[in-house]
Amino acid sequence: MSRQDELLEIAKRRLYGNYRPAPVVFARGKGCELFDADGHRYLDLCAGVAVCSVGHAHPTYVKAIAEQAGRLMHVSNYFYNEPNILLAEELCRRTGFSRAFFCNSGGEANEALLKLTRRHFYGQGQTGRARIIAFDNAFHGRTLGAVSMTGTPKYREGFGVPGNVTHVPYGDLAAVKKAMGPDVAAVIAEAVQGEGGVFPAPAGFFSSLRALCDEHGALFLVDEVQTGIGRTGRFLAIEKEGVMPDAIALAKGLGGGFPIGAILTTEKLAGALPPGTHGSTFGGNALASAAALSVLSILDEEKLVEGARTKGAGLVAKLEELVRVFPRVCESVRGEGLLVGLVLHEGFVARDILPLVQREGVLIIAAGDRVLRFAPPLVVTEAELAEGVSALRGVLAKLDEGRRGAA
Ligand code: PLP
Repeated sequence: MSRQDELLEIAKRRLYGNYRPAPVVFARGKGCELFDADGHRYLDLCAGVAVCSVGHAHPTYVKAIAEQAGRLMHVSNYFYNEPNILLAEELCRRTGFSRAFFCNSGGEANEALLKLTRRHFYGQGQTGRARIIAFDNAFHGRTLGAVSMTGTPKYREGFGVPGNVTHVPYGDLAAVKKAMGPDVAAVIAEAVQGEGGVFPAPAGFFSSLRALCDEHGALFLVDEVQTGIGRTGRFLAIEKEGVMPDAIALAKGLGGGFPIGAILTTEKLAGALPPGTHGSTFGGNALASAAALSVLSILDEEKLVEGARTKGAGLVAKLEELVRVFPRVCESVRGEGLLVGLVLHEGFVARDILPLVQREGVLIIAAGDRVLRFAPPLVVTEAELAEGVSALRGVLAKLDEGRRGAA
């Protein structure tokens, strides 16, 4: 029995069955390469779902974490710690927001946005203003509050999810206008719908939402958990429209693999959560903050945000070629920067195709039902992207043959 098989056997017995992982146990990584417990190499073009922005085992990042671990890891929020203060300053400097609250994940960041919103209006005596407008197909995380804003019913069913959230189609301004009212506290939108199928918002959508929220006295919140920290070729995806939300949620790429989430708010919301109203034992932990600071400095040193834009354009061009070559299988390509989806035709199930690509030594993920999603480490090279697309090409060729045979 190989080491991997031994581990898989234990995993099947002992790990809770809420996931459906591929039967691969990873043991180490370097850049965009991952090696399983038996030493097989894989090309990682999903980065742990848009997380490992600086790749695996980046020497500068590893050194920063090791040094911080050797100096100070955790002191709780009863005290300050240096990396956390510097991280708050750095994030605000880069984005124009005034305040940062730290937590440990994207779901928690959105939970904090929700609590911040309702508490803000409560603090103003507007207790009737608590409804949230969110979008169909949205994904905001798995905590009860975050899942109440998540727009996919299967994630909500059976959990007794709290209500007062209206879901409308993403990108449909008329539907948002119709749902708007004096009881609406906020509109929350992903900058690009990631999990739902890599749907960028239509041009002008966020400026219109901003204006609509201002008109009705509601807050405008943007979930940048998947898109933030350079993923789309801008530090924040929302920059594309030059719109300033009232608050945003960050996680995933912020820590580069170390768990950390954050919300950034404007000064207007600085007092919405007074001491004692919200918190997190680990949030703003010195080690997580040092990891995030290191990610930010590597992004600058290696010009990874600009790189996400240029390499993303190259990836889109390569995938568009696959759409031309295999029109029976592939429908279109969409995305921003290094968050790109290859949309398959009706009848194909993206999740079923992933193992075929994996067999070729390449890791990508699904989004929605029929989108193959690329969210590689931002350090990915053109050659690695070409390698991944070439492996996918072989898989699509076989699917195309199958479809031709069936026709
Ligand atoms: N928000 C968005 C846009 C996401 O894509 C995700 C995760 O995929 C989340 C929130 C939830 O993040 P986490 O799994 O870290 O709680």
